[in-house]
Amino acid sequence: MQSKLPNIGTTIFTVMSNLATTHNAINLSQGFPDYPISPLLIEAVHKAMLDGFNQYAPMIGLPLLREALAQKVNTLYHANISADTEITITPGATYAIYTAFTSLLHAGDEVIVLEPAYDSYIPNIEVNGAKAICVPLSYPDYSVNWQLVREAISPKTKAIIINSPHNPTGYVWTKEDMLMLDEITRDTHIYIISDEVYEHLTFDEKPHESVLKYPSLFARSLVIYSFGKVFHATGWKMGYCIAPTEIMKEFRKIHQFLSFSCNTPMQIALANFLQYPKEYLSLPTFFEQKRNLFLNYMKDLPFTIHQKTSGSYFQLCGYEKINDMPDKEFAIWLTKEYGVATIPMSAFNHDGRDDKLIRFCFAKKDETIEAAMEKLREICSE
Ligand code: PMP
Ligand code: GLN
Repeated sequence: MQSKLPNIGTTIFTVMSNLATTHNAINLSQGFPDYPISPLLIEAVHKAMLDGFNQYAPMIGLPLLREALAQKVNTLYHANISADTEITITPGATYAIYTAFTSLLHAGDEVIVLEPAYDSYIPNIEVNGAKAICVPLSYPDYSVNWQLVREAISPKTKAIIINSPHNPTGYVWTKEDMLMLDEITRDTHIYIISDEVYEHLTFDEKPHESVLKYPSLFARSLVIYSFGKVFHATGWKMGYCIAPTEIMKEFRKIHQFLSFSCNTPMQIALANFLQYPKEYLSLPTFFEQKRNLFLNYMKDLPFTIHQKTSGSYFQLCGYEKINDMPDKEFAIWLTKEYGVATIPMSAFNHDGRDDKLIRFCFAKKDETIEAAMEKLREICSE
């Protein structure tokens, strides 16, 4: 069979999680929490199922949930969003990103991707017959080099995909970044896909700069969110996209023939749960404590903290005090020899560029972080 993605193998998240299972390692690789979700949320799904809400939801999502989301973004970002025409509920953010690209792209279009980048972006672009134009983020802090972005724009540029808080570097976009993006794209036909799945995971009082806060940017954007991150339920695969009416019409044309709709009882439960803003407003503190616990343990270990993470639930670390293996080899070695799985950062670069950094996920029980650190401490004693 002629492959549509001849150079793509299995995603690194599956590779490393499988390796963790095979070697009975503590899995700090793929980003998912290992603690329970709220029992209230589980009860709400259960109740919705018992109440008979087990058939197709409306194609665009349950009105109750869309209205709760419109209210949420109004409170958080002062965005006046129509629940009817500007929000669509999707089976996860990965799906919404794919649908956004598929709505926008024609063969031969170009999309600017800032690297390192989440691993689904480039395959999504290529499967649509378009081309990713990769722009490296600035080492070592992985901020945006706006001059390089300007230079990457061509008459074929259809879109730019941005991600803040950023996976895997933890960089959080500033207001200046947003204004620069607005300035560069204002009089163009360039669309913005803004992956904001870590919107509530910013630390040290840094605000999340949503595209929704900037009306002129939003006018040409598709903004993507995940309930997986907000309610610690990555396995639910629930998310949503917000875009202006005309763009959303195109998004929905694709969505109606991909999944059509998504899980009804979970939409009811999520709509109810959104009535408790404390659940998501407490996330920065919750995750900042986990980050700090992780950093504290790391002080005694032969890893270097590569810029304290400002957002997401990831921390990049260097291992130059241990050895000089390529990062993929190192991550495999660490899993097999020391029983802790991580993600090599080169997996987020199309050309395998290797800054010799590995990504730890600290969205774990304190005991899990402690147990992983105990294993890593053995590296010192050799
Ligand atoms: N974007 C980024 C940057 C991510 O880290 C992830 C992983 N959670 C996603 C999108 C996908 O989210 P979901 O699990 O809702 O598909
Ligand atoms: N977003 C998660 C991460 O970066 C993984 C998602 C996935 O496994 N596709 O680890």
